[in-house]
Amino acid sequence: TSTRTAGLAGNSLTELFVMARASGAIDLAVGTPGYPSTSASLVDEATAAMRAGRNQYEHPAGDAELRRLIADMLGDGADPEREITVTAGATEALYIALLSTLDPGDEVVLFSPGYEQLAASAALVGARLRFVRLHGPEWRYDPAELAAAFNARTRAVLLNTPANPTGRVLSREEMEEIAALCERWDATVICDEVYRSFVFDGRAHVSATEIPAFTGRNVVIGSLSKSHAVSGWRLGFLRSDPVRTETFRRVHELTTNGTAAPLQAAAASAARSVDLDEVCRETSRRRDLAQEVFSGMGMKFAPVEGGIFLFADISPLTGGREDCRAFALALLERSGVLVAPGAPFFGDPAEGRDHVRIAFNRTVETLREAERRVTAGPRKST
Ligand code: PMP
Repeated sequence: TSTRTAGLAGNSLTELFVMARASGAIDLAVGTPGYPSTSASLVDEATAAMRAGRNQYEHPAGDAELRRLIADMLGDGADPEREITVTAGATEALYIALLSTLDPGDEVVLFSPGYEQLAASAALVGARLRFVRLHGPEWRYDPAELAAAFNARTRAVLLNTPANPTGRVLSREEMEEIAALCERWDATVICDEVYRSFVFDGRAHVSATEIPAFTGRNVVIGSLSKSHAVSGWRLGFLRSDPVRTETFRRVHELTTNGTAAPLQAAAASAARSVDLDEVCRETSRRRDLAQEVFSGMGMKFAPVEGGIFLFADISPLTGGREDCRAFALALLERSGVLVAPGAPFFGDPAEGRDHVRIAFNRTVETLREAERRVTAGPRKST
């Protein structure tokens, strides 16, 4: 196999998943929404689209109506004809953005901890990773450390706001500070905004497209996976300027040449009926419950500002004696609840040994059952 694949770690959660599934545990590790699609009409529309014969190739850039809907959702004046491309999830969008922006050896600046796929995908295209540490419990960067990560070889910075796994939402001032560095070093910003509709407590999501210094150098990645609870439909998108978009579409024709046509048609006709503000309010109540349960258990974390994850320090519970993986395994065995070990989210996994990630986009019943299990003490062995 190729040298570029040699460093690929594979999914570090797989072994824990298999054990969790076999034992009927509650899985709070993955980000997959723990409830059916937010809109039953999405499902009806998908069936209708297939019956109506929408079963052949769609335009590779994506269903025109769906691109219009995405542009409206973004609300930043994007031209759906020339600036939006529908992809197979945000996952493909990220890969296209990286392949189209970076040559092997180019440097890319990204935060640690961060969504592990950002680092892995950048490494796969041959980029050199320059991690900037986020300092807990609020997971903020130090401006001097950020500035020191940029140099003449920097080609791009990878952002994710609201963030997986930290639950941070980048402020306008932080975005402006990052944009000034991109301007100075002529770098592109690739901003993963898949959780843009999940911002809590009256905060506002600040998109890369709202920052003047990012103009002409920004690529925004989004997805319907979590906002519309259709992660299996693989509906993501890229939003950029017309010149970059032309390149993206050529690469897209070589990667997947488009995601499922009838599902695009269904999303185009029914996604508007999903009330994203209501989904956000519900998610914020689930966040409150998760914060209550896991702080009650003794974990430490700053309040989650956005997204669907809680990223917690377990050292008050373990006294540093168990690392995150051993802790997750013990919690799984003792209580039948699976959380994600934090180490894989760090540039240097050793820095994550005292952290776990907990997804709270679950039904209230599931979260209540998790509460019951973690407070009930040891499970009887079966
Ligand atoms: N970006 C982030 C930050 C994510 O957490 C995820 C899902 N875990 C993705 C992208 C992938 O999204 P999609 O299902 O649209 O490929």
